[in-house]
Amino acid sequence: MDAPPYGGRNEDIMENQLNLYNTLTKKVEPFVPRVEGKVQMYTCGPTVYHYAHIGNLRSYIMEDVLEKFLRYIGYDVKRVMNITDVGHLTSDGDTGEDKMLKGAKREHKTVLDLARFYTEAFFSDCAKLNIKTPDVVEPATNCIDEFIHMITVLLEKGYAYVAGGNVYFDTSKLENYYVLSSQNEEDLAVGVREGVEEDTNKRNKTDFVLWFTKSKFEDQELKWDSPWGIGYPGWHIECSCISMKHLGEYLDIHCGGIDNAFPHHTNEIAQSESYLGHKWCNYWFHVLHLNDSTGKMSKSKGDFLTVSLLESKGYNPLVYRLFCLQSHYRKPLVFTYDALDNAAVAYNKLIARIRSLKKDGDVDQAAFDQYRQAFITALGNDINTSSGLTVLYDVLKADISDATKRALIADYDKVLSLGLIEAADTVEETAVDDELEAYVLERIAARKAAKKAKDFAAADAIRDELAAKGIAIKDTREGTVWELVK
Ligand code: AMP
Ligand code: ZN
Repeated sequence: MDAPPYGGRNEDIMENQLNLYNTLTKKVEPFVPRVEGKVQMYTCGPTVYHYAHIGNLRSYIMEDVLEKFLRYIGYDVKRVMNITDVGHLTSDGDTGEDKMLKGAKREHKTVLDLARFYTEAFFSDCAKLNIKTPDVVEPATNCIDEFIHMITVLLEKGYAYVAGGNVYFDTSKLENYYVLSSQNEEDLAVGVREGVEEDTNKRNKTDFVLWFTKSKFEDQELKWDSPWGIGYPGWHIECSCISMKHLGEYLDIHCGGIDNAFPHHTNEIAQSESYLGHKWCNYWFHVLHLNDSTGKMSKSKGDFLTVSLLESKGYNPLVYRLFCLQSHYRKPLVFTYDALDNAAVAYNKLIARIRSLKKDGDVDQAAFDQYRQAFITALGNDINTSSGLTVLYDVLKADISDATKRALIADYDKVLSLGLIEAADTVEETAVDDELEAYVLERIAARKAAKKAKDFAAADAIRDELAAKGIAIKDTREGTVWELVK
C-alpha cells in the first residue's frame, strides 16, 4: 500500500487505534463506533452567563484533542455542541435562579444580549487556545419546538407527569436510573438537594424538571407557549434534543466535565432512552476538574481565572494548552502560576529546538511512519497526551533528518494544536529581521565614519554593497534611512 499523505486518511490504521475510558462501563475499552469510519460526537456547551474560566476550558481542550485524534486516525467525525442560554439554574438539581437571568441582572443587559456577548467571548477564547469550533453549534433557545415534542412523547409514554404547573421526569419508571455512577444512591440524592429546599411537587427526590411554568422567579425573561402553559425548558432536555436534532437517534461519544455526569448526563440518558426506546449513547467521556489552590474553580468566585487574565499577565494562551496536555484528562489538575511558568519554559524551549531544525532535506518515509505510529499508540491509550508529548521529544532527539522531524511535528500538531511550527517559523523570521537590521545599521555607521574621514570611495563602496543586497539608503535631515527594494 502507498504511504498516506502526512496525517491523511489511512483506512488500514483506522480500526482499534483507540482505547477509551467509558464512564458508563467504568472501563477502558476499544472504541468502536456504530457506523464504520464515522463518529457521532456531542459536547455539552457553555452556559453563557459569564466568561468561561480556564477550568471550563480544560474540558474543551481535552475534548478538542479527542476529536482531532479521531480525525487523525481517519474517522469522519460530526461534532455537535449546544449553547446553554436558558434553563440552567444555579443548582444543577433544578432549584435556584436561572443563571442567565442572574447574569442579565448583574450586567443590566437582556438575556439575549448577554448570551450573544458571552457566546462570542467563549469562541474567542477557544480560538486563542486552538480549540476547533464543533461542526454544529446550536443555542437552546433555537430548539423550543423540539423540547416540547420530546416532553409530549415522554408524557404520552408515561415517563413524565405534570405537578404544580411544571412537567417532571419520573425516575421511578426506570429500572436503573444511576447508570453513570458507582456511588451510593442515597449520597447522590443528597447531592441533588444540597443546600436547597426540596421541591414538593416531585414524586421522587431524583425526578427532574422538563418544563417550568411555575418558578419562584416570575421575572424570567424568556418564556414560550407550550401545552402546559407559558414557561421555559429545564436544562437537561436541551442536550438530548439538540443531539438528536443533528445526530439522529444514536450517539457514539458524549463529552463533558465530570460535574456533568450527575445529574445532567444521568438525566439526559434517562429521558433520551425513555423517549427512543433503545440505548442512545455508547461512550461517555468526562474530563476531571481543574482546581485552584483553594479548591474547585467557579464563575461565581470574584476574580476568576480567564484566558484574558492570563494574557494580561503576559502568558501565551497556548502555554495553558500545553499545561493541560502535560496531564491526563482523568486526573484532577491543580492550577498554580508556578506550574504555568514551568509550562511556559517548556513551551519556549520546545519552540527553540524546533526553530533550530533545518527546513530543507528529504523526509524519511519509513521513519515518519514509525514515529507516527508511536504517537498513535501513545494517544490511543485513553488520550494520553503526556505520552504523546514524550513521543514528540523522542522525535527531536532521534537520529533522523531534520526534515523528517519537522514533518512529524507538523503532523502531531494536528492533534496537539500547540502552534509549534508556526511559532518556530515566526520567531525565525523575526530573528532574521533583527539580524538584517543590525547588519544594515552597522554598515550605515561605517559609511558615516568613512564620509567623516573624507574617504568617499569607501562610503560609496558601502552604498553599493547594500544596493547589491536590495537595500536602498537615503540621507535625510533626520539621518540615514533604509528600505528593502526587492
Ligand atoms: P458550564 O459553562 O458551567 O455549563 O460548564 C461548561 C463545561 O465546563 C462543562 O462541561 C463543565 O462540566 C465543565 N467544567 C466546569 N467546571 C470545570 C472545572 N473546574 N474543570 C474542568 N471542567 C469544568
Ligand atoms: Zn449537556
